[in-house]
Amino acid sequence: MTRDRPSVLCFSGHDPSGGAGIQADIETLISFSCHAASVITALTEQDSLNVKKIIPQRLEDIISQARTVLADFPVQAFKIGLIGHPETAKAIAGILQDHPHIPVVLDPVLAAGGGTELATEQLLDTIKTRLLPLTHILTPNSIEARRLSGAEDLTDAAMKLMKMGCKAVLITGTHENTDAVSNQLYQDGEMIKSFNCTRLPYSYHGSGCTLAAALAGLIAQGLKLPDAVSRAQDYTWNALHNAYRPGQGQHNPARLFWTTTSL
Ligand code: PLP
Repeated sequence: MTRDRPSVLCFSGHDPSGGAGIQADIETLISFSCHAASVITALTEQDSLNVKKIIPQRLEDIISQARTVLADFPVQAFKIGLIGHPETAKAIAGILQDHPHIPVVLDPVLAAGGGTELATEQLLDTIKTRLLPLTHILTPNSIEARRLSGAEDLTDAAMKLMKMGCKAVLITGTHENTDAVSNQLYQDGEMIKSFNCTRLPYSYHGSGCTLAAALAGLIAQGLKLPDAVSRAQDYTWNALHNAYRPGQGQHNPARLFWTTTSL
Protein backbone atom coordinates (compact mmCIF):
# COMPACT_ATOMS: atom_id res chain seq x y z
CA MET A 1 0.00 0.00 0.00
CA THR A 2 1.30 3.44 -0.80
CA ARG A 3 0.24 6.69 0.82
CA ASP A 4 2.31 9.04 -1.34
CA ARG A 5 -0.82 10.78 -2.62
CA PRO A 6 -1.83 13.30 0.07
CA SER A 7 -5.47 13.35 1.11
CA VAL A 8 -7.64 16.44 1.48
CA LEU A 9 -10.92 16.09 3.34
CA CYS A 10 -13.48 18.48 1.83
CA PHE A 11 -16.61 19.68 3.61
CA SER A 12 -18.54 20.96 0.61
CA GLY A 13 -21.93 21.39 -0.98
CA HIS A 14 -23.09 19.47 -4.05
CA ASP A 15 -23.92 21.42 -7.21
CA PRO A 16 -25.94 19.24 -9.63
CA SER A 17 -25.01 21.56 -12.52
CA GLY A 18 -21.41 20.42 -12.06
CA GLY A 19 -19.81 23.84 -11.80
CA ALA A 20 -19.08 24.51 -8.14
CA GLY A 21 -18.91 22.70 -4.82
CA ILE A 22 -17.55 19.23 -4.32
CA GLN A 23 -17.17 18.52 -8.05
CA ALA A 24 -14.94 21.58 -8.38
CA ASP A 25 -12.92 20.40 -5.39
CA ILE A 26 -12.45 16.87 -6.69
CA GLU A 27 -11.46 17.96 -10.21
CA THR A 28 -8.99 20.45 -8.74
CA LEU A 29 -7.47 18.03 -6.24
CA ILE A 30 -7.00 15.42 -8.97
CA SER A 31 -5.08 18.09 -10.89
CA PHE A 32 -2.64 18.37 -7.98
CA SER A 33 -2.23 14.59 -7.55
CA CYS A 34 -4.15 14.63 -4.29
CA HIS A 35 -6.81 12.26 -3.06
CA ALA A 36 -10.13 14.00 -2.34
CA ALA A 37 -12.27 12.71 0.51
CA SER A 38 -15.70 14.32 0.44
CA VAL A 39 -18.25 15.02 3.13
CA ILE A 40 -21.33 16.70 1.69
CA THR A 41 -22.62 19.51 3.92
CA ALA A 42 -25.64 20.36 1.76
CA LEU A 43 -27.31 19.39 -1.47
CA THR A 44 -28.41 22.29 -3.65
CA GLU A 45 -30.84 22.93 -6.46
CA GLN A 46 -29.11 25.18 -8.98
CA ASP A 47 -28.25 25.72 -12.61
CA SER A 48 -25.51 27.73 -14.28
CA LEU A 49 -27.49 30.94 -13.56
CA ASN A 50 -28.20 30.81 -9.85
CA VAL A 51 -28.72 28.75 -6.68
CA LYS A 52 -32.43 28.09 -5.99
CA LYS A 53 -32.37 25.97 -2.85
CA ILE A 54 -30.00 24.64 -0.17
CA ILE A 55 -30.78 21.28 1.44
CA PRO A 56 -28.56 20.89 4.55
CA GLN A 57 -27.51 17.33 5.32
CA ARG A 58 -28.12 15.68 8.70
CA LEU A 59 -25.55 16.67 11.30
CA GLU A 60 -25.07 13.15 12.62
CA ASP A 61 -24.27 11.95 9.08
CA ILE A 62 -21.78 14.76 8.43
CA ILE A 63 -20.02 14.06 11.73
CA SER A 64 -19.91 10.28 11.41
CA GLN A 65 -18.80 10.39 7.75
CA ALA A 66 -15.89 12.68 8.59
CA ARG A 67 -14.88 10.74 11.69
CA THR A 68 -15.01 7.41 9.83
CA VAL A 69 -12.64 8.70 7.12
CA LEU A 70 -10.32 10.33 9.65
CA ALA A 71 -10.09 7.07 11.61
CA ASP A 72 -9.01 5.21 8.46
CA PHE A 73 -6.27 7.30 6.85
CA PRO A 74 -4.16 10.39 7.43
CA VAL A 75 -5.49 13.65 6.05
CA GLN A 76 -3.01 16.41 5.13
CA ALA A 77 -5.49 19.30 4.81
CA PHE A 78 -9.13 20.20 5.37
CA LYS A 79 -11.01 22.30 2.81
CA ILE A 80 -14.31 23.90 3.76
CA GLY A 81 -16.71 25.34 1.18
CA LEU A 82 -20.49 25.81 1.36
CA ILE A 83 -21.63 25.20 4.95
CA GLY A 84 -25.28 26.13 4.60
CA HIS A 85 -26.41 26.10 8.25
CA PRO A 86 -24.99 27.37 11.57
CA GLU A 87 -25.32 23.95 13.22
CA THR A 88 -23.25 22.46 10.38
CA ALA A 89 -20.51 25.02 11.08
CA LYS A 90 -20.51 23.96 14.75
CA ALA A 91 -20.32 20.27 13.78
CA ILE A 92 -17.36 20.93 11.48
CA ALA A 93 -15.65 23.00 14.20
CA GLY A 94 -15.97 20.04 16.59
CA ILE A 95 -14.17 17.79 14.10
CA LEU A 96 -11.41 20.31 13.35
CA GLN A 97 -10.80 20.81 17.08
CA ASP A 98 -9.95 17.14 17.41
CA HIS A 99 -7.33 17.43 14.61
CA PRO A 100 -5.47 20.66 15.39
CA HIS A 101 -2.37 19.60 13.41
CA ILE A 102 -4.29 19.43 10.07
CA PRO A 103 -4.24 22.78 8.20
CA VAL A 104 -7.64 24.25 7.34
CA VAL A 105 -8.46 26.18 4.13
CA LEU A 106 -11.81 27.95 4.56
CA ASP A 107 -13.60 29.42 1.54
CA PRO A 108 -16.43 31.46 3.06
CA VAL A 109 -19.23 30.86 0.56
CA LEU A 110 -21.68 33.63 1.47
CA ALA A 111 -23.50 34.27 -1.84
CA ALA A 112 -23.82 32.62 -5.23
CA GLY A 113 -22.49 34.31 -8.36
CA GLY A 114 -26.15 34.67 -9.44
CA GLY A 115 -26.91 36.66 -6.27
CA THR A 116 -28.64 34.17 -3.94
CA GLU A 117 -27.62 34.57 -0.29
CA LEU A 118 -26.01 31.35 0.94
CA ALA A 119 -25.35 32.43 4.53
CA THR A 120 -27.65 33.89 7.19
CA GLU A 121 -26.35 36.36 9.82
CA GLN A 122 -26.39 33.48 12.30
CA LEU A 123 -24.17 31.36 10.06
CA LEU A 124 -21.86 34.35 9.57
CA ASP A 125 -21.52 34.70 13.37
CA THR A 126 -20.82 30.98 13.79
CA ILE A 127 -18.15 31.08 11.08
CA LYS A 128 -16.50 34.04 12.83
CA THR A 129 -16.61 32.67 16.36
CA ARG A 130 -16.16 28.93 15.82
CA LEU A 131 -14.35 28.39 12.50
CA LEU A 132 -12.01 31.38 12.01
CA PRO A 133 -9.99 30.53 15.14
CA LEU A 134 -9.30 27.08 13.60
CA THR A 135 -8.45 28.35 10.10
CA HIS A 136 -4.97 28.33 8.58
CA ILE A 137 -6.00 30.35 5.51
CA LEU A 138 -9.30 32.07 4.71
CA THR A 139 -10.04 32.81 1.03
CA PRO A 140 -12.82 35.43 0.82
CA ASN A 141 -13.52 37.55 -2.22
CA SER A 142 -13.57 41.27 -1.45
CA ILE A 143 -17.36 41.27 -0.86
CA GLU A 144 -17.10 38.38 1.60
CA ALA A 145 -14.09 39.96 3.34
CA ARG A 146 -16.05 43.19 3.91
CA ARG A 147 -19.17 41.34 5.08
CA LEU A 148 -17.27 39.10 7.50
CA SER A 149 -15.11 41.86 8.96
CA GLY A 150 -17.42 44.88 8.80
CA ALA A 151 -14.48 46.93 7.40
CA GLU A 152 -14.65 48.73 4.05
CA ASP A 153 -10.92 48.97 3.40
CA LEU A 154 -9.56 45.55 2.42
CA THR A 155 -6.35 45.80 4.47
CA ASP A 156 -8.43 46.72 7.54
CA ALA A 157 -10.71 43.79 6.72
CA ALA A 158 -7.77 41.35 6.56
CA MET A 159 -6.35 42.64 9.86
CA LYS A 160 -9.73 42.26 11.56
CA LEU A 161 -10.20 38.74 10.20
CA MET A 162 -6.75 37.72 11.49
CA LYS A 163 -7.69 39.19 14.90
CA MET A 164 -10.72 36.87 14.84
CA GLY A 165 -8.26 33.99 14.72
CA CYS A 166 -7.33 32.88 11.20
CA LYS A 167 -3.57 32.81 10.58
CA ALA A 168 -3.69 34.00 6.96
CA VAL A 169 -6.17 35.63 4.58
CA LEU A 170 -6.15 35.67 0.78
CA ILE A 171 -8.59 38.34 -0.45
CA THR A 172 -9.46 37.94 -4.11
CA GLY A 173 -10.07 41.05 -6.17
CA THR A 174 -12.28 39.80 -9.01
CA HIS A 175 -15.26 41.88 -7.81
CA GLU A 176 -13.25 45.11 -7.56
CA ASN A 177 -13.52 47.74 -10.27
CA THR A 178 -9.93 47.38 -11.53
CA ASP A 179 -8.42 46.56 -14.94
CA ALA A 180 -6.26 43.69 -13.69
CA VAL A 181 -7.26 41.34 -10.86
CA SER A 182 -5.17 41.71 -7.74
CA ASN A 183 -5.33 39.12 -4.94
CA GLN A 184 -3.73 40.08 -1.62
CA LEU A 185 -2.14 37.65 0.83
CA TYR A 186 -1.93 38.58 4.53
CA GLN A 187 -0.31 36.39 7.17
CA ASP A 188 0.37 36.73 10.90
CA GLY A 189 -0.91 40.31 11.00
CA GLU A 190 1.03 41.52 7.95
CA MET A 191 0.44 42.09 4.24
CA ILE A 192 2.74 39.54 2.54
CA LYS A 193 2.24 39.81 -1.21
CA SER A 194 -0.03 40.93 -4.09
CA PHE A 195 -0.65 38.42 -6.87
CA ASN A 196 -1.80 40.06 -10.09
CA CYS A 197 -3.35 38.55 -13.19
CA THR A 198 -5.13 39.64 -16.35
CA ARG A 199 -8.89 40.03 -15.97
CA LEU A 200 -10.80 37.41 -17.99
CA PRO A 201 -14.02 38.30 -19.84
CA TYR A 202 -16.79 36.15 -18.32
CA SER A 203 -18.47 35.31 -15.05
CA TYR A 204 -17.33 31.88 -13.79
CA HIS A 205 -19.15 29.29 -11.68
CA GLY A 206 -17.06 27.84 -8.87
CA SER A 207 -13.93 29.92 -9.36
CA GLY A 208 -13.62 30.49 -5.60
CA CYS A 209 -14.00 26.75 -4.92
CA THR A 210 -11.26 26.09 -7.49
CA LEU A 211 -8.77 28.50 -5.95
CA ALA A 212 -9.40 27.28 -2.39
CA ALA A 213 -9.23 23.59 -3.38
CA ALA A 214 -5.97 24.21 -5.29
CA LEU A 215 -4.54 25.91 -2.22
CA ALA A 216 -5.62 23.00 0.00
CA GLY A 217 -4.03 20.51 -2.43
CA LEU A 218 -0.75 22.40 -2.57
CA ILE A 219 -0.65 22.78 1.22
CA ALA A 220 -1.34 19.04 1.48
CA GLN A 221 1.63 18.51 -0.89
CA GLY A 222 3.81 20.42 1.59
CA LEU A 223 4.07 23.83 -0.09
CA LYS A 224 4.26 26.87 2.16
CA LEU A 225 2.44 30.15 1.63
CA PRO A 226 3.01 32.24 -0.52
CA ASP A 227 4.30 29.63 -3.05
CA ALA A 228 1.07 27.67 -2.64
CA VAL A 229 -0.98 30.82 -3.35
CA SER A 230 1.05 31.67 -6.42
CA ARG A 231 0.64 28.18 -7.92
CA ALA A 232 -3.04 27.95 -6.94
CA GLN A 233 -3.72 31.27 -8.64
CA ASP A 234 -1.86 30.26 -11.85
CA TYR A 235 -3.83 27.01 -12.01
CA THR A 236 -7.16 28.80 -11.42
CA TRP A 237 -6.38 31.40 -14.07
CA ASN A 238 -5.64 28.63 -16.60
CA ALA A 239 -8.86 26.80 -15.70
CA LEU A 240 -10.83 30.04 -16.24
CA HIS A 241 -8.94 30.88 -19.43
CA ASN A 242 -10.04 27.49 -20.85
CA ALA A 243 -13.61 27.78 -19.50
CA TYR A 244 -16.65 26.48 -21.34
CA ARG A 245 -20.34 27.35 -21.12
CA PRO A 246 -22.57 24.31 -20.54
CA GLY A 247 -25.84 26.24 -20.11
CA GLN A 248 -27.31 29.70 -20.34
CA GLY A 249 -25.47 31.28 -17.42
CA GLN A 250 -21.94 31.38 -16.04
CA HIS A 251 -18.95 29.66 -17.61
CA ASN A 252 -17.43 26.64 -15.90
CA PRO A 253 -13.69 26.60 -15.25
CA ALA A 254 -12.03 23.78 -17.25
CA ARG A 255 -10.22 22.38 -14.22
CA LEU A 256 -8.97 19.38 -16.18
CA PHE A 257 -7.60 21.59 -18.96
CA TRP A 258 -4.35 19.65 -18.74
CA THR A 259 -5.93 16.30 -19.72
CA THR A 260 -5.54 14.70 -23.11
CA THR A 261 -8.09 13.05 -25.38
CA SER A 262 -5.52 10.56 -26.66
CA LEU A 263 -5.88 8.05 -23.80
N1 PLP B 1 -23.00 25.99 -4.97
C1 PLP B 1 -22.07 25.41 -4.21
C2 PLP B 1 -22.30 24.02 -3.74
C3 PLP B 1 -20.90 26.12 -3.89
O1 PLP B 1 -19.97 25.54 -3.13
C4 PLP B 1 -20.71 27.44 -4.41
C5 PLP B 1 -19.50 28.18 -4.15
O2 PLP B 1 -18.60 27.76 -3.49
C6 PLP B 1 -21.70 28.00 -5.17
C7 PLP B 1 -22.81 27.25 -5.45
C8 PLP B 1 -21.57 29.37 -5.73
O3 PLP B 1 -20.63 29.39 -6.73
P1 PLP B 1 -20.39 30.75 -7.53
O4 PLP B 1 -20.09 31.76 -6.45
O5 PLP B 1 -19.22 30.49 -8.36
O6 PLP B 1 -21.63 31.04 -8.27
